[in-house]
Amino acid sequence: MRTVPSPDPELFPTEAAPERENAPESASKAESGASASQQTGTPAAAPEPAGDLEPLFARLARSEFRSRFRLRTAERAYVTEKGLATIRRHAADFVHGRLAPAFPPNDGRQTPMRGHPVFVAQHATGCCCRGCLSKWHGIPAGRSLTEAEEAYVVGVLMAWIERQMAR
Ligand SMILES: [Zn+2]
Repeated sequence: MRTVPSPDPELFPTEAAPERENAPESASKAESGASASQQTGTPAAAPEPAGDLEPLFARLARSEFRSRFRLRTAERAYVTEKGLATIRRHAADFVHGRLAPAFPPNDGRQTPMRGHPVFVAQHATGCCCRGCLSKWHGIPAGRSLTEAEEAYVVGVLMAWIERQMAR
């Protein structure tokens, strides 16, 4: 039986702030060269070891919206308490349950803005909903994620969390 961490409803009001991304970001994306690889039909981020995430993190750093996210004290404490292996399992569960379906319930609003370090990582890395996954990672919406894509997303989330913990 899977132990999916159940979000405390009190911590996650249903009116989670809608995602706001503005024009400057799309401009910076245009010059990033990511569009070229998207046009080939190959996901911009084919599942690869975490070594090749530098260009992604550089693009994210240019987004005012994405770069605002940080792990706060309680979330950092949670990572320390649970350990990275457990956090990775939570990430895999969230990605599988909330992001991987072809049409995730409540898509665009399924990821709370806080309350679990993985949620924060999802917003920070453009892995919060299928629209953002398409925009930032070139993984098309409207179909289920492959196992490799799920693993890739988990890798991105964990890389972000590890970077935050090293700050
Ligand atoms: Zn999103």
